[in-house]
Amino acid sequence: MDFELTEEQKLFKEAVRGFVEREVVPVVDESEEKETCPVELFPKLGELGYLCPAYPPEYGGGGLGKIGDCILIEELARVCSGIAAGIMVQSGLTTFPILKYGTEEQKQRLLVPAIKGKKIAAYGLTEANAGSDAAAIETTAKRDGNYYIVNGSKIYITNGQICDIATISVSTDKSKGARGISTLVIERDTPGFSVSKMRKLGHHSAATGELVFEDCRVPAENLIGEEGSGFRYMLESLNGARISHSARSLGLSQAAFDASLSYAKERKQFGQPIGSFQAISFKLAEMFTRLEATRWLLYRVAWLYDQGAECRLEAPMTKFSSSETAIWMAEQAMRIHAGAGYLAESVIQRYFRDAIMYHTTEGTTEIQQLVISRGLGL
Ligand SMILES: Cc1cc2nc3c(=O)[nH]c(=O)nc-3n(C[C@H](O)[C@H](O)[C@H](O)COP(=O)(O)OP(=O)(O)OC[C@H]3O[C@@H](n4cnc5c(N)ncnc54)[C@H](O)[C@@H]3O)c2cc1C
Repeated sequence: MDFELTEEQKLFKEAVRGFVEREVVPVVDESEEKETCPVELFPKLGELGYLCPAYPPEYGGGGLGKIGDCILIEELARVCSGIAAGIMVQSGLTTFPILKYGTEEQKQRLLVPAIKGKKIAAYGLTEANAGSDAAAIETTAKRDGNYYIVNGSKIYITNGQICDIATISVSTDKSKGARGISTLVIERDTPGFSVSKMRKLGHHSAATGELVFEDCRVPAENLIGEEGSGFRYMLESLNGARISHSARSLGLSQAAFDASLSYAKERKQFGQPIGSFQAISFKLAEMFTRLEATRWLLYRVAWLYDQGAECRLEAPMTKFSSSETAIWMAEQAMRIHAGAGYLAESVIQRYFRDAIMYHTTEGTTEIQQLVISRGLGL
């Protein structure tokens, strides 16, 4: 058993931290305030080979596996979960099906520019009537010669209104249910494809949008893998993405803990630092313990994934544990900061607004519990 990052992983973590300090910290406040995603970060990360650290170097990736991806996302989320959201979708969820099931031609045309940050990618699964019940999607793709004619819409899509390409789940054969779902990559300039912004409580620096397809003619060469296998690809993509999502929750938890610990040492009431009151010091002791437990479950699962394990039980476990921990941590940070945390200029209220969303994305907490309990034979 070795709980240390390798030298290569440590160097990567240091390099990413440097990048975050230099390039991300200065743009967080404005991006959050204006509710815009700093899109320039995609090519900046891409040029350095940091945007998709898990992917093979021959396509522009870092060759650092899921652990590399988790390091990137954790470091970004320590500073801004909203910015981490857009990068996370790009570094795994949306590009994964192309990497795993795309042809070499698709990889060169669609994946390589995404890994380099030259094309921003979105992942479109959720619809108005298909959230947790992903097999209920209603967006259709009907074959017409060398094209698919796509009709329908996708909601809550991260990178939605800034995407150049979108990896979309569509129904190519309604009569087959989940076995009639396929994966198409739709390019932004395809006639009939439009996007609009969706505003939200938190994650203001993540671009969240609705994607609408009206008689959208998509070349058949943009079908990923086999027709009818899209639901399986989606489950596989989401499973890996749940591990990266956990790194995002961990980054926010770390930030909430760090801010709370220093505030507890600085803030004085009744003539002493509030950290000297047991009510506060016990909270911090519990926060630190839960933070460490979350970290080691996550990195163990990422390691297992890199060894080739499917992690069908472990990925939902780390997603469930890390997101609920982050929500709890943000609330504790709010209690420790009290009035100071509630002010608009405080990062604590941002952590609080951002953390609550972790319950929902990449499958809700209840869906993770469902998958885990099924894995236990219940
Ligand atoms: C900010 C943001 C970004 C997002 N980004 C993307 C994206 O990039 N791409 C994308 O495709 N989607 C995205 N989503 C959508 C997200 O994946 C869905 O919101 C999520 O899957 C839940 O679906 P829903 O919101 O429709 O909730 P519902 O499925 O309607 O669930 C409502 C409630 O019922 C519970 N529930 C549902 N079914 C069961 C069950 N069988 N057992 C127990 N409880 C159940 C849920 O846990 C939840 O508490 C995003 C969402 C948000 C908020």
